[in-house]
Amino acid sequence: MASSTVLVWFRNDLRLHDHEPLYRAWRSGLAIAAVYCYDPRQFGHTAQGFPKTGAWRANFLRQGVQNLAENLQKIGNKLLVTTGLPEQVIPQIAERVNAKTVYYHREVTQEELDVERSLIKELAIFSIQAEGYWGSTLYHPEDLPFFIQDLPDLFTNFRKSVEKKKISIRPCFSTPSPLPPSPDAQLTLTPPPSEFFPAATMDSRSVLAFQGGETAGLARLQSYFWDGDRLKSYKETRNGMVGADYSSKFSPWLALGCLSPRFIYQEVKRYEQERISNDSTYWLIFELMWRDFFRFVAQKYGNRLFDRGGLLNKKLPWQQDQVRFELWRSGQTGYPLVDANMQELNLTGFMSNRGRQNVASFLCKNLGIDWRWGAEWFESCLIDYDVCSNWGNWNYTAGIGNDARDFRYFNIPKQSQQYDPQGDYLRYWLPELKNLPGEKIHQPWLLSATEQKQWGVQLGVDYPRPCVDFHQSVEARRKIEQVGVIT
Ligand SMILES: Cc1cc2nc3c(=O)[nH]c(=O)nc-3n(C[C@H](O)[C@H](O)[C@H](O)COP(=O)(O)OP(=O)(O)OC[C@H]3O[C@@H](n4cnc5c(N)ncnc54)[C@H](O)[C@@H]3O)c2cc1C
Repeated sequence: MASSTVLVWFRNDLRLHDHEPLYRAWRSGLAIAAVYCYDPRQFGHTAQGFPKTGAWRANFLRQGVQNLAENLQKIGNKLLVTTGLPEQVIPQIAERVNAKTVYYHREVTQEELDVERSLIKELAIFSIQAEGYWGSTLYHPEDLPFFIQDLPDLFTNFRKSVEKKKISIRPCFSTPSPLPPSPDAQLTLTPPPSEFFPAATMDSRSVLAFQGGETAGLARLQSYFWDGDRLKSYKETRNGMVGADYSSKFSPWLALGCLSPRFIYQEVKRYEQERISNDSTYWLIFELMWRDFFRFVAQKYGNRLFDRGGLLNKKLPWQQDQVRFELWRSGQTGYPLVDANMQELNLTGFMSNRGRQNVASFLCKNLGIDWRWGAEWFESCLIDYDVCSNWGNWNYTAGIGNDARDFRYFNIPKQSQQYDPQGDYLRYWLPELKNLPGEKIHQPWLLSATEQKQWGVQLGVDYPRPCVDFHQSVEARRKIEQVGVIT
C-alpha cells in the first residue's frame, strides 16, 4: 500500500474535467482512492410518498457512475463504488487506504450539508482532514461583489451586479492524466441493490435518448454547439417544446455534474471566437446565471426554500386536494398543454422550460394546490432534478419567491396557442386529439357535439372535460391571495 493516499469523494460531480478535488489530488502526487457511495436516503420517499429518486434519474445516475468508472480506468485509476451512509462509509474506506485527506465538492442544501458535517466529525476521529471545494456554478462565490447574505433578491440585480463589475469566470481545472493507481487495500464494497434502479423503458418520443455520464454530456455539447451549430439560434428556439434541439438539454448532465458550467462557458467563448457572437450565445450564459442565482438563493435562505411559505414566508392558504392533484399529476386536467407536458414528464423524465412554467402555474394559480406537492413530484420524476433550481423555480411560480410581486399566472390556452400554434406538441403527446385542427386543439372544451363526432373525440370519454373553469379558478385564487390569510 502507498504510504499515503488522498481520497476523492465523488458526489454530484461525476466528471474528470474541471474537477478541483481530483485535480488537487493528482497534483499532490499521492495515491488516489476515488469513491462513489450510493446513499440509501436518496432512494427513500418524499413527504408525499413519491420515490425520492424516480426510475429515470436513478438509471441516469447509474450510467453516470459507470461512465466515471470507465473514464477513471482509462487514465489508470479505479472507482470504488459502494453503498451506505457516506459519513460512515467514507471514513472507513479512508482509514483502510491510509488516506490523510478527503477531497470533495461542497453542496448547499440541508441534507447534503448534514452529511458533510457528520463526515468531517467522523474523519476527525481518525485524524483525517476533509477539504471541500466549490465547483457547481459559473461564478465562484468568493468572486461575487457581495456576501451571500447580501445577494440581491431580484435575479436582474444579481446579473447586473456581476456583469457591471465584470466579474470573471475562473478557468477550468485541467483534466488529470495519467492518475496513480488506487491503493491496494482489502476493502468490502457493497454494490447498490437492484431496487434502486427500477426497470423503465424510456418512451421513444423522448426529446433525446438521455444517456448518463460525462462522455455523453460532452458529446451532447459537441452535437448542440459544434456539429448541429444550434447555439447561434438558441435565443429564438429556446421556448420550443418539440425535438432535441430547441434548447441545449444540458440540464441532466449539469445536475449530476457530468458537465461543468465553466466548461460550457469556455466552449461558448470559443464558439463566439470561431463562429459567431450574438444574443443567442449570450443567452445561454444568461440562463446559466439563473442556475447560479438559485444556488446562491438556497445558500442565503437555507431551509426556507422548502417551507410552505417559501422564501418570503408568505402566509397563503394552499389546498391539499388529492383528487385534483392526481388529475394534474397524471395529465388529465382537460387542459391539453398541461396534460401533454405531464405525459412527457411521466414517460420520459423531461419537460421543457415552457412546459414547466405552465404546469406549475396551473397547479398553484388555478388549482391552488400546495406547491410543495408539485415540487416533490418534479423531484421524483425529473432526470435533471437539481434541488436549488427545482425548489427555487417552484417558489417563484407559486409567488412566494423573494421577487414575488402582484399576482402572476400563465394564461394556459393563450400560451398553448402562442408556443404551439399548430398543436404539433399537443398531438405528439395526446394522440386522442390527433385529428383536431390547430385552431381547435388548444381548447377542446369548446367543441360542439358535431365537431366532437367529426374529429373522433368525445369529451368526458376520450379526453377529459376541464377540471376547473380557467378564468373563474384564476380569479378565485387571485382573491384568496389578496386576502392572504392562512387557514
Ligand atoms: C417549476 C420548474 C422546475 C424546474 N426544475 C428544474 C430542475 O430540477 N433542474 C434544472 O436543471 N432546471 C429546472 N428548471 C429550470 C429549467 O426548466 C431547466 O433547466 C431547463 O428546462 C432544462 O433544459 P435545457 O438544459 O435544454 O435548458 P436550456 O434552455 O438549454 O438552458 C441551459 C441551462 O441553463 C440553466 N437554466 C435554464 N433555465 C433555468 C431556470 N429557469 N432555472 C435554473 N436554471 C436554468 C439549466 O442549467 C439549463 O441546462 C425548472 C423550471 C421550472 C419552471
